Amino acid sequence: MPFKIIKDDITTLKVDAIVNAANESLLGGGGVDGAIHRAAGHKLLEECRGLKGCRTGQAKITKGYDLPAKYVIHTVGPIYKDGRHGEEELLTSAYRNSLLLAKKHNLKSIAFPLISSGVYGYPKKEALKIAISTIKTFLSEEDMDATLVLFDKDTVKIAEELYGEIKY
Ligand code: ADP
Repeated sequence: MPFKIIKDDITTLKVDAIVNAANESLLGGGGVDGAIHRAAGHKLLEECRGLKGCRTGQAKITKGYDLPAKYVIHTVGPIYKDGRHGEEELLTSAYRNSLLLAKKHNLKSIAFPLISSGVYGYPKKEALKIAISTIKTFLSEEDMDATLVLFDKDTVKIAEELYGEIKY
């Protein structure tokens, strides 16, 4: 099923769900989380308060409010320590549980940021490989349209070295 990698601001995408790289509190943070909350409006935070947090590797869904996306799937990636603290499994789970939640809600299109690759410090190259392989494995069995959205120039450069030109 369709998979693409693009460079864009995830808050502008008109898809069934965008994924938020949140923290366990689900009460907002910096990076993509801050951008999503700013664009969605204060009602998103109100709904998040009722969710009582989310464990690392798990995912929860809310409405998208003022976003062009209908829903936000909030997932929590691991904080990268040294790669020996289950980071790869947890990052894989964050993608997979987000995809499973989208499927459960009959969503047909989903867009991901590169989870854990910002403040949480996951090495970008490894984070990219895990994102792409986990999404592709899921799409080989499921009918869904998935996009990986890159934001900063460094990440785009690494992705282009690995996979060729990225669409702007
Ligand atoms: P984490 O805490 O999981 O590392 P961050 O938000 O710090 O989350 O960063 C995750 C990735 O999201 C980074 O690669 C960052 O460049 C990217 N990012 C930040 N803002 C946006 C945005 N508006 N759209 C898409 N990606 C974004």
